[in-house]
Amino acid sequence: MPKDLAIYVHWPFCTRICPYCDFNVYKQKKETDLISAILTDLSFWRSWSGPRLVTSIHFGGGTPSLMTDEDVYSVISKINSLWNVKPSCEITLEANPIDMNKKRWEAYAKFGVNRLSLGVQSFYDVALSTLGRDHNSEQAKKSIKLAKNTFPSVSMDLIFGWEGQNERLLMYDLTEAIKTGVEHISTYQLTIEEGTAFHKSEIRGNKKSVTADQSADLYDILVKNLVASGFEHYEVSNFAKPNHQSQHNLTYWKGLDYVGVGPGAHGRVTLNNSRYCTISKMHPRDYIQNTKVMGHGLESREKLSPLDWASEYIIMGLRADNGISIQRYEEISGHSLLNKKIYSLVDGGFLLIEGDILSVSRKGRNVLDHITREILI
Ligand code: SF4
Repeated sequence: MPKDLAIYVHWPFCTRICPYCDFNVYKQKKETDLISAILTDLSFWRSWSGPRLVTSIHFGGGTPSLMTDEDVYSVISKINSLWNVKPSCEITLEANPIDMNKKRWEAYAKFGVNRLSLGVQSFYDVALSTLGRDHNSEQAKKSIKLAKNTFPSVSMDLIFGWEGQNERLLMYDLTEAIKTGVEHISTYQLTIEEGTAFHKSEIRGNKKSVTADQSADLYDILVKNLVASGFEHYEVSNFAKPNHQSQHNLTYWKGLDYVGVGPGAHGRVTLNNSRYCTISKMHPRDYIQNTKVMGHGLESREKLSPLDWASEYIIMGLRADNGISIQRYEEISGHSLLNKKIYSLVDGGFLLIEGDILSVSRKGRNVLDHITREILI
């Protein structure tokens, strides 16, 4: 039985760069060679991974909704020609509300995309303009409506913690989001990353995000309200209606295997009981050139040490409801996991042990970084 595999495809172009974004993104330009580079890279990955069962494909970015329907088709059909693809394979494409296009979205759906993830961020126009987004709330609502008529599952991203946001404004966003009837909501706390326009602006004294305490209060409010509206809080930042959890992201949180193609994409593959960590060439130009010369787009491919592998398993696994398997951790690391520190976190109500599963309690979720650090020291 071939092992499961998820595939991440990074499309690095955006129409414009948002002032808070620190992803590997570039202003859109005509890039005709990127698709053929991605197809070449996929063939390389097939020769390396061996036969697998593809359980999810995720077009992320950047802005994959700038891809033509032919581009999306060629990637999906290439994957089908290389691996077995599970009939219920989740195929997600991240989209910018401003790119809504009935014909193109219907073509995506026809080629197999069954989940659209919309970068809505807010329904409050002042916030959208502060965040440098190129859509307004009306366009966001229209794009959700079209997405819901076209795809069986729709997710939206919401950003919280921007300067000036208070409980009332957060409630406005939550109420509008819930009203749309989307099946999945990913929430992102606005963090100011070095090198972004927001970071430069903060250095000049213009505050862009709320304090950590205010942000924690906003987070509590959003969790309470989304759960009360029927969303499962299945991961720190993610909420889903029953049967609409992101299968692709669960691959990351469960420590399973995934291919990463496209500029700057990361991958993790387990072969002969060793875990490999890959990163692709960051710049599209270098990625394309590498696939032409070397037949793949990789910048590096390293074998993780058992302890690094086990640490990653904990860091990712504790984010999700399902937690981690204690036995699996011990197999990977060669060390036992349960010690005084873990038991004291259990006694404090931060961690839960049920049979073989170690997971974080509701109380623990609010201080997850601290708990993870405690366990890993
Ligand atoms: S659209 Fe998304 S990926 Fe592109 S710059 Fe804005 S936040 Fe970054």
